[in-house]
Formats: sequence, structure tokens, C-alpha cells
Amino acid sequence: ASDVYKRQRKNEGDQQMKKVLVFLMMAIMACSMLLTGCGGEEKKAADSAKVLRVGTEPVFAPFEFPKEGSKDLTGFDIELIEALGKQMGYKVEMVSMGFDALIPALNSNNIDVAIAGMTITDERKKVVDFTESYYTSGLMIMVRKDSNVKSIDDLKGKTIACQIGTTGENKSRTVEGAKVKAFNTQDEASLELKNGGADAVIGDAPVIEYYMTKAGKDFAKTVGERMEAEPYGIAVKKGSKLAGDLNKALAELKKSGEYDKLYTKWFGEKK
Ligand code: GLN
Repeated sequence: ASDVYKRQRKNEGDQQMKKVLVFLMMAIMACSMLLTGCGGEEKKAADSAKVLRVGTEPVFAPFEFPKEGSKDLTGFDIELIEALGKQMGYKVEMVSMGFDALIPALNSNNIDVAIAGMTITDERKKVVDFTESYYTSGLMIMVRKDSNVKSIDDLKGKTIACQIGTTGENKSRTVEGAKVKAFNTQDEASLELKNGGADAVIGDAPVIEYYMTKAGKDFAKTVGERMEAEPYGIAVKKGSKLAGDLNKALAELKKSGEYDKLYTKWFGEKK
């Protein structure tokens, strides 16, 4: 009797085993279908539609710069666009290029948006659209420590270093008789000042102030207060609906307190 009992148990066991095997095979098939994206042309198309290609010029701390010892970017702009992308359901993909290449890249569809401490100006509004302003900046003058320059008027006829294609360059060119040296990055302009090739740098105040807490403190000082208020906006191709979507997402981040958290992280308490 115990033999029969054992055989019965064995049959039950076999059946159970079969069920487990069938289940395993189905599970493996399901997994491989997911991995290879079975019949997934539509799925893939949907995924790539959800990538937001973001252009920036990552030599502009504290807005966009490489993390120490890494190619990954960080900064206020970077964390802001990542939060906005998440809010809008996009995967953000950063694309680095020169500042003056950003607007052409938008217009040739190589990027979807540009975030780069970019001032909203009438001139740029003719060729691209901007979101609402997400930060209020301004320009600042930086000179060597031993300089007796007290204001922009003292720069007449002097040599001014700045970054090419920026509002700092525009401002430099308004100074009577000044020789303007325009560099690809703000850092190169600052280096020119350090090396004695220029009497001053004109550039974005928050970037110069940040630089003064790093390399700048050894040789430079700032002159006076921030000059004029400059609103930063995210640029998109003319007519793109992304501007409206980004504005909506920005309003949501402001409401949730996430924008304030980012702001305080990078700039301290709001002035
Ligand atoms: N805010 C300045 C401009 O828009 C500089 C921007 C930059 O160099 N990233 O011209």
C-alpha cells in the first residue's frame, strides 16, 4: 500500500513539475519579448519621441559645468531641465556645444531646447522662442586686484575680454574706444584677464561671482553692482509647442516647491 501511495505522490509531483516548467517557459518568453521589444516598432517610436535633446555650453558654472572627474554635467540649469523633463515625461539627453552654436542647432533640429544661462533678448526673439524667465541675472565687471577701475566709464579705451555671442560682448562693444577680445568661453576670457591680456572682463554676474569663490579669488575682484537685469529663458525653435509645455511644467515646479529647493541649493536664499 505504501508503494501505491508513493507512486501517486510521484505522479502528482510530475504534474506539478510540468506546471512549473510551462510557467518558466512562458516567463522566459515574456522576458525576451520585452528585452527585444517584440513587435515593438511602435513602442520604440514612442520611446524616442519622449527624448528631449537639450543643448548647452557646459563652461558656465554654476549653471552648467562638468561634475568633478566626470563627463556628466551638473549645475542649476542642468538640474532644472532634468526636473522639467521628468515633469513632462521626457528622458533628458544633454548635448554640449559652443554657446554661439545653440541657436543654429535649434533651427536645424539638432536639439529640441537650449538651456545655457541664455538671456532673453529682442534680437534672439526674432529667431527663436523663449519660455518665461526662470532666473534673473545681470552683467558684472571683473578686474585684477591691483586695478583702479571703479566703473564701466573707466574702461574707455581699455581692453575688455568677454565671451563670444553673449550679452557681455554686446555690452563690451558699447564702451567707447575699447578693444574687445571675444573668447569661446567665459573661462578663457577670465584667463586673459589673469594673464594681463585684458584690463577687464564683462560677463554674467552669477558666473563671475561664482568664479570669485574659486580661481578668481587669487587675482581678481569685481567692480560695482550687477548692471541691468537680464532674464534667462529656455530657447526652443520658433513655433514649437515645447515653450508652452515647459512653462506649464515650470509653474508646477514652482508650486510644488521644487524650483525653490533647486534655487537655494545653487544660490542660497532668494534675495
Ligand atoms: N547670459 C549671456 C547671454 O545670454 C551669457 C550666456 C552664456 O555665456 N552661456 O548672452
